[in-house]
Amino acid sequence: MSPEGTAGVVVVGNGMAGSRLVGELRARDAATPVTVFGAEPQRPYNRVLLSNVLAGLTRPEHIGLVDAAWYASHGVDARLGVEVTRVDRAARTVHASDGTATPYGTLVLATGSTAFVPPLPGLRDGLPDGALVFRTLDDCRRICDLAESARRALVVGGGLLGIEAARGLAGRGLDVTVLHLAGHLMERQLDPAAGKVLARTLASLGIGTRLRAAVTGLRVSDGAVTGVELALPGGGTETAAADLVVLACGVRPETALARDAGLAVGRGVIVDDELRSVTDPSVRAIGECSEHRDEVYGLVAPAWEQADVLAGLLAGTDPAARFTGARQITRLKAAGIELASMGETHFGDDDAGVEVVRFTDAARGTYKKAVIRDGRLIGAILLGETAAAGTLTQLYDRAAPLPAERHGLLFPGLDTPARAEAPLRMPDAATVCHCNDVSKGRIRACWERGARTAGDVARETRAGTGCGTCRDAVEGIVAWLAGQEPAGVA
Ligand SMILES: Cc1cc2nc3c(=O)[nH]c(=O)nc-3n(C[C@H](O)[C@H](O)[C@H](O)COP(=O)(O)OP(=O)(O)OC[C@H]3O[C@@H](n4cnc5c(N)ncnc54)[C@H](O)[C@@H]3O)c2cc1C
Repeated sequence: MSPEGTAGVVVVGNGMAGSRLVGELRARDAATPVTVFGAEPQRPYNRVLLSNVLAGLTRPEHIGLVDAAWYASHGVDARLGVEVTRVDRAARTVHASDGTATPYGTLVLATGSTAFVPPLPGLRDGLPDGALVFRTLDDCRRICDLAESARRALVVGGGLLGIEAARGLAGRGLDVTVLHLAGHLMERQLDPAAGKVLARTLASLGIGTRLRAAVTGLRVSDGAVTGVELALPGGGTETAAADLVVLACGVRPETALARDAGLAVGRGVIVDDELRSVTDPSVRAIGECSEHRDEVYGLVAPAWEQADVLAGLLAGTDPAARFTGARQITRLKAAGIELASMGETHFGDDDAGVEVVRFTDAARGTYKKAVIRDGRLIGAILLGETAAAGTLTQLYDRAAPLPAERHGLLFPGLDTPARAEAPLRMPDAATVCHCNDVSKGRIRACWERGARTAGDVARETRAGTGCGTCRDAVEGIVAWLAGQEPAGVA
């Protein structure tokens, strides 16, 4: 049945949320007409893995999410390289850059975010040569091209994206410094002590960090960037020279279409638990462009969960499905830096009502912290060694009661030097792949149904196909299950 009439579903945005929705919708409903518009010219790709492409670990052609032939074979009208320019809610039609007008029964906005470019002098006429943001495959290709000849790079912004960009560029042999406005790196996810250890780890990898660095402008000569200007604490400015500048200053939800169409927009398009615009029930919004219960998510796991919920609702296969919010778990993907962070990490020993368990070995780049309230984990940082990430994620995600013995939270199995959490000790409920919400128990169930490789498990559960940081853990569990198999069983 076509949702909300006969005109079918029109999805605007073919990024990580939009493409997941289209796939899930088709898996549940082969009949409803589906049209998807994607402003980027190529088939959808795993944006999260752009950091690995920049680091030279993955090739761009290996991060595609949907085969080119899939759309035709599944009766989906895919308009790649076509931007929707206007939504006419009265006529229930979208107008696109190719001159077409497409009617919809249900419109899904999955327009994601755009990189924020601070309003600095030198940027009035757009970014000069050598200065880029890092959001799309196109940005990534251009950064890689420039990195071939550049020698000195500055990354403006020491959040997750900035650090991944810095690590990628350093791996390509550039002299890299991260300029960060706040007093410590990744201040949204880390406490100051962890930020300090991270800066030390970056230094050991040849990456400089300047904190409280207020960039006031770009230096440009003959249309190309030559450096950035920084405000000095006592007044005046200094110039830091660079032939490549990557601006990693955060993102802004892409809401222009929604706003112009008169939909309620806060930071994102405001939706209810059915991902429905609070203004117009025939419009839904998912992924980074949506705002749900005052939260705008900037991670792929909530975007994919929203896509799954919406697919069940639109196909009618799960009319009771609701998105009630997601916990945010961040993992850094940078060679030589293990980092996982979740929840409220900023509490200290003097804060009332919380218990903080902590271990620091700054010389070895290790910092671990668990924040506990009422016997439940409300936040954690694992830096330098993330073996406990699976169990902590599960305890945090499900707000499960903690064992009385606390140090095992940070050091599961002090006796085993394994990098990934030893599968034997990991409870079945432990989350192995957070992007796709796959537990150890589900991987075991796949094994019992005949899966024998991490690839088999990924085909059945998608474990490891998001940010990819759990791939070692999935392989470890599969190898462990193989070891449990009685001899002679194929
Ligand atoms: C380098 C990098 C590394 C990241 N690493 C991680 C990570 O480790 N873990 C994690 O959870 N998240 C990570 N993220 C964030 C993650 O990629 C996003 O949360 C996710 O892509 C959001 O999906 P989305 O579909 O909402 O937006 P997007 O993936 O941005 O897709 C939106 C799409 O809509 C298109 N579009 C916009 N407007 C229109 C229009 N009018 N017409 C047609 N098309 C339109 C855009 O061109 C875009 O292709 C990373 C992001 C980047 C850039």
